[in-house]
Amino acid sequence: MIRIPIQNLVDDLQQFSLFASGQHALDDRRENADRFVNFAEFQKETGDRQKLCVVRSVLGHQQRSGLPVFSAFDTIGGKNPTANEKLINAMMQDSYRPFGNAECLDVFTHYAALEYLKTKKPKVLYISYGETDEWAHHGYYRSYLDAAHLVDKWIKEIWTFVQSDPQYKNKTAIFITTDHGRGDINKEEWRDHGSGIADAYQIWFAAMGSDIPSSGEQKNNVQLFQDQFAQTIAKLLGVTYKASHPISPEIKSVLKK
Ligand SMILES: [Zn+2]
Repeated sequence: MIRIPIQNLVDDLQQFSLFASGQHALDDRRENADRFVNFAEFQKETGDRQKLCVVRSVLGHQQRSGLPVFSAFDTIGGKNPTANEKLINAMMQDSYRPFGNAECLDVFTHYAALEYLKTKKPKVLYISYGETDEWAHHGYYRSYLDAAHLVDKWIKEIWTFVQSDPQYKNKTAIFITTDHGRGDINKEEWRDHGSGIADAYQIWFAAMGSDIPSSGEQKNNVQLFQDQFAQTIAKLLGVTYKASHPISPEIKSVLKK
């Protein structure tokens, strides 16, 4: 995930919002928890990425910091939900829960986030879709493919909205990535990830926006790292990320237009 001090990017925390299908997207059970999103006060506490123990309660920290955080089966809309938010909440509460109470289906995360984008107009919106990960762990390949196709469609939907809205049009970037890879060297391990799974550390990213060169799939022989994303996103927002710990440089090819 992405380490970035969001208070440098937005002057009102409500302008940043975070939607996640699963609480585990925000906790320390991931092998790369030291790179997790940390915002506001939490960012100050963790300055050192070695202090993983602090990540344990990242969700609580984020919520106490005043950031709007919606994960798993959290309802949206607060005390005055819109008609759409009421319907999303009701359907989510009554929905099939193949992953228990820790993670809702992505369809609810997506429609909740899109409604928030349309009505609250945040400057930064973070969406964590979780189904491809879950279905892969379960070994349900058909569902894994369906989930991936849906996210593709939703990214198009988000982009279409962004480019139709005067506040966002031609000044918004979408940065898409994954918090981990999957086993690839040993093909039987594709369902899993973690430090014991060969090649699961390999991830991908994509970026789109009116200021981002449209250069298609990259075949350049370069080594990039996940910890470069924070500065890349900061630069896309027109600021430079500064902190007391070392910060990896931005990915220049994303910004070169
Ligand atoms: Zn997983």
